[in-house]
Amino acid sequence: MKTIAVIGSGTMGNGIAHTFAQFGYAVNLIDVNADALKKAIETIGKNLDRQVAKGTITDADKEMTLANLSTFTDLKTAVANADLVVEAATENTALKLKIFKDLDEFAKPDAILASNTSSISITQIAAVTKRGDKVIGMHFMNPVPIMKLVEVIRGYATSDTTTNLVMDLSNKLDKVPVEVNDYPGFVANRILMPMINEAIYSLYEGVAGVYEIDTVMKLGMAHPMGPLQLADFIGLDVCLAILNVLHQGFGNPKYAPCPLLVNMVTAGKKGVKSGEGFYDYSNGIKEAKVAPKFAKLV
Ligand code: NAD
Repeated sequence: MKTIAVIGSGTMGNGIAHTFAQFGYAVNLIDVNADALKKAIETIGKNLDRQVAKGTITDADKEMTLANLSTFTDLKTAVANADLVVEAATENTALKLKIFKDLDEFAKPDAILASNTSSISITQIAAVTKRGDKVIGMHFMNPVPIMKLVEVIRGYATSDTTTNLVMDLSNKLDKVPVEVNDYPGFVANRILMPMINEAIYSLYEGVAGVYEIDTVMKLGMAHPMGPLQLADFIGLDVCLAILNVLHQGFGNPKYAPCPLLVNMVTAGKKGVKSGEGFYDYSNGIKEAKVAPKFAKLV
């Protein structure tokens, strides 16, 4: 594999593009929004500077990584020469089905089509293509250049050959791939999202405030960050979309998203990416304070 197309240049897409480019692959990064592409290249540049400052890569590695990246707004041109496509567009089923239908038409017949979806069925995505054996989940974690895990999701029709290729490729990116089957939320989000939702319910019901909930989970369970702050980093819209998939997929009310989460997303409070969620990021991520709305117990 030489050329990788990455669709979507948001939180995950820029990290995925960064990682493949850093490990020597030519990366075509695609977004419908030209501003998002510009921002992604700036973010990748800043993250590479941080890696150089830490001594984990050299200046030459940084230049090589940037030289490996090309940006596109046109899907057809960008995927034409790709050996693997990793889709990391917005978590929306209709959108992903449309993208995979187009990919089946525009990508080389032997190209592998992967989705970074957090929760949408790989089997459903594969079913809109004529190459179900070559469709797979490649679920990276945020921030991609740092986090080691790749959850590799086998759809109903995914072949052993495709799975083995993606497992090997993940190892080449210095990641640890873990193979799982295609059921709602896979493993990572089936376990993580109910915890985040329960933390939001604890806030909504006035059991404790944002600081208190996150501190209990950080110091009590040795989590590196509390569930409410983690939700802000993931994106509250993404958390809501995943909970809806779990709720619909299992038909079990235990996955119903907390009304406070629904309200926050409707009001445009999506966490870090919108500048405010449970915390206020107007002074930057490191200076984040509990959002004014939650300064007192609800
Ligand atoms: P995001 O909102 O930050 O970025 C999505 C990007 O997709 C935007 O830049 C948008 O312009 C672009 N986009 C939308 N439609 C497009 C199209 N048709 N073609 C090309 N680009 C398009 O979202 P994100 O957090 O990066 O999530 C992307 C995917 O990764 C989702 O499936 C999400 O579930 C998954 N994911 C997210 C996280 C996380 O922590 N945020 C972790 C793992 C997986």
